[in-house]
Amino acid sequence: MDTIVAVATPSGRSAIAVIRLSGPRSLQILRSLLDDEEFNPEPNRVVLKKIVTGPSGEVLDHTLVTFFQSPHSFTGEDMVEISCHGSPVIVRQLLDLTQKFDGRLAGPGEFTLRACKNGKMNLSEAEAIRDLIDARTSAAATHATRQLGGGLSASLGPCKQELISVIVAMESALEFVEDDLPQVQLDQMLTGLARVRVAVKNLADTYATGHLLRAGINVAIVGRPNVGKSSLFNKLLRFERAIVTDVAGTTRDSLSESISLHGIPVTLTDTAGLREAVDKIEAIGVERTHRAIADADLLLVVFDGSAALLPEDRKVLAQAVDAHHIVVVNKSDLDQSPDVDAQLINEAKVVHLSALNGEGLTDLTAAILEPFGRIDSEDAGFLITDSRHYDLLRRAELAIGESMTLIAEKASEEIVLIGLHNALKFLGEITGETTTEDILSEIFSTFCIGK
Ligand code: GDP
Repeated sequence: MDTIVAVATPSGRSAIAVIRLSGPRSLQILRSLLDDEEFNPEPNRVVLKKIVTGPSGEVLDHTLVTFFQSPHSFTGEDMVEISCHGSPVIVRQLLDLTQKFDGRLAGPGEFTLRACKNGKMNLSEAEAIRDLIDARTSAAATHATRQLGGGLSASLGPCKQELISVIVAMESALEFVEDDLPQVQLDQMLTGLARVRVAVKNLADTYATGHLLRAGINVAIVGRPNVGKSSLFNKLLRFERAIVTDVAGTTRDSLSESISLHGIPVTLTDTAGLREAVDKIEAIGVERTHRAIADADLLLVVFDGSAALLPEDRKVLAQAVDAHHIVVVNKSDLDQSPDVDAQLINEAKVVHLSALNGEGLTDLTAAILEPFGRIDSEDAGFLITDSRHYDLLRRAELAIGESMTLIAEKASEEIVLIGLHNALKFLGEITGETTTEDILSEIFSTFCIGK
């Protein structure tokens, strides 16, 4: 096993930067960096040490070094952490030196991969670390921490136990029982399997909301010029990001910002007003609006409630009608034109608000989040956030269902067992008990370097 090295902190200038080493040569490399072959640090103790650039003794930096002795480290191997000053120049030289002394630059997620291989954590816990680092809202971070604490393994544990007990009963019947299994025992197995299938299905069903914690939703604000799109955009962001004027065509390009709506990461896009463009720049803006519409998970189609509905408004609605959308009737602080409501009467979801004074904004937030439920609440329970987990749960559910049908049809134990073993394998892959090398490297390639 070689010794890997990476910067664990973001690039750029900072107060300190942390360089990590993991592998059998970690301590030896540290000794070489300090030019002190006698250095014998006490594990887990931070020591102030000078890094030198070579035997001539030129000091590169004053650092804090910590040695973690195998197996009591994050990766389970010997590890060294060096906290140096956060200058990109120092960091670069330190990395060069560690490589000179036989360290190898780590690939993405390689530290965590080693931790997994050495039994320090299971795969779903390792994925939770990635999600925690990538979390865009506090709700997403809380959930990743739950998974890191073994939430997913705990939810799967009873399912696997029940499945194993049915498999064991079937296997022993196959080995030792001459006749067919008695009906009472088959019924017991069916009841047990039905319980597992429901539990697995319930967990898989949480993915519909759970994946939003990671992926978030793309919301585009569309409408003809001057209905108040930019005002609504700014109000939702809570700062004046887009320029607001009564000059039609002010927003020439699409603007995007991220916000958190009750814990769900939302990417909000303010688009150029949809109308016949008067110049080339506006035409490009309108083209981008079409692209934003195509990319959005949800459209907020904005109308001016104080004015009559124009042909341009109808065109916008016609473009949005096939997409998931909410009709926003803006400028509720002004006298309302009866026209708008009458025309929009058939729309499933209409929210009246004023982007000027904020009235009705909570109704809009609720309407945006309604299909996703409240996932920021304490009692939301454990949610599946990863498509890999979701896929494996669905496959397990299917395999259990097929086995149940075969049991009911009195198929031979050998055939039933194939499905049950598959189901157990799928559940095992979630936590990494039955994951092949290929899948592992694919998963860890999505990690950041130094983790
Ligand atoms: P956009 O072209 O659709 O982005 O519209 P803007 O956000 O630039 O707004 C156009 C004009 O309508 C500006 O003068 C805004 O101040 C005004 N406006 C926007 N929302 C409201 C509202 O809720 N009430 C009132 N009274 N005026 C608004």
